[in-house]
Amino acid sequence: MELKNLVEQQRETLLKTLQACIQIPSVQEEDGSAYPYGANIQRCLEFMLNTGKELGFKTENLDNQAGWCELGEGEEMVAVLGHLDVVPAGEGWHGDPFSGEIRDGKVFGRGSMDDKGPTVAALYALKALKESGLPLRRRVRLLMGTNEETGSADMKYYLAHGGETPVMGFTPDGEYPLINGEKGIVNVTFRRELRQSGPVRLKKLSGGSAPNVVPASAAAELECPEDLAGKIVEALPEKVTCVPIPGGVRLEALGVSAHGSTPEQGENAVGRLFLALNALPLEGELKQAVGFLAEKLGMETDGKALGIALQDEVSGGLTFNFGTAEGDETGLRCCVNYRYPVTKTLDNCGPKFQTELEAAGFQVEKQTHKASLYVSPESELVSKLLKVYVEETGLPPVPKSIGGGTYAKAVPNVVAFGPIFPGDEVREHKPDEFIEVDRLMQNAQIIARAMYELAK
Ligand SMILES: [Zn+2]
Repeated sequence: MELKNLVEQQRETLLKTLQACIQIPSVQEEDGSAYPYGANIQRCLEFMLNTGKELGFKTENLDNQAGWCELGEGEEMVAVLGHLDVVPAGEGWHGDPFSGEIRDGKVFGRGSMDDKGPTVAALYALKALKESGLPLRRRVRLLMGTNEETGSADMKYYLAHGGETPVMGFTPDGEYPLINGEKGIVNVTFRRELRQSGPVRLKKLSGGSAPNVVPASAAAELECPEDLAGKIVEALPEKVTCVPIPGGVRLEALGVSAHGSTPEQGENAVGRLFLALNALPLEGELKQAVGFLAEKLGMETDGKALGIALQDEVSGGLTFNFGTAEGDETGLRCCVNYRYPVTKTLDNCGPKFQTELEAAGFQVEKQTHKASLYVSPESELVSKLLKVYVEETGLPPVPKSIGGGTYAKAVPNVVAFGPIFPGDEVREHKPDEFIEVDRLMQNAQIIARAMYELAK
């Protein structure tokens, strides 16, 4: 029988398995159990591996960090990478977020789209491929992780504990047509001590909630003589307000929030606050620190003033977000999130930024980095997946570069492929998350064909 019909035959059991999978609330928990991400996640992994075993696959559980179902023989292995952990349900649902109920041709529930639906679809795609008897040159592994939503420590563990690296693979945890470029992502936290002098002194400062969010508000409390307070009000720029407080003033800056990967869509309140502070008659170390933060970071979104505004043709420019700042009489601590173009490396921008920080008296306290990812459109992996995509959908097979990071970064030789189709609403992490049964089956069809093309 043709692969297509074999996939279609799985519809009923696929849906039942997905419902049962959604009914396990696999949110990461510190529950005192021996399992790395809590008992519910472990239960979900065990459920999927048992189902895989019943379907006739070789299965393995690597210390409850990751597990896999595998088909075929051969030296080389191709992987489909999915994850079984989900984000918390949150507020605003119209039904039970962990029911997996099917209404109006849609499966509802946390994880239906991200990423249990696609992962279960991949399991039954593998089943169809097995039943087809089509000859395979490479093994096909459905690799299931358990910590995508909170850091991908599962795949670090997998790779560090003998987990096999696929020669090629894809994760249905992004979007179609295919994501072949992901910017490198860097978070830097830096601090400097302040010995303050002069009539205007910083008492308290805070702004921003997370490095990868453009801050919508920021505030600073200053100690200053009364005659100066009036002058401060006169010098205020747009969207900054000043109210008197005992012994001084409080400045509040407003911005517009946006995701850290698209800072140009927002207005940075922390940057705006430092620009306002920089216009005040500050002195000494405070003046120097504020001057640097206002002039070199400010409300910029591309790192130009720091000299790190990298560009490439595939993914455009470096993006820069001044995410958080906090301070008091003794010092200032800030955190930025920047993302460099897909064909560049950290060496092209990281050292330059660090030099600038140190020259202004700041010390880097912490830096985290996820390297950029880029797989050429001409590669075997990308060209084969796009061929499957265009044949299955008839839609333009143009790969994308993004500023965000997907699960693909967690395992070498993997790109994000599916499950969201162009123009479809993005609903992962939102209330009433769902996947249409037809889209689920279309994903299963595409995944089965893709597995075959990569392994044949
Ligand atoms: Zn996901």
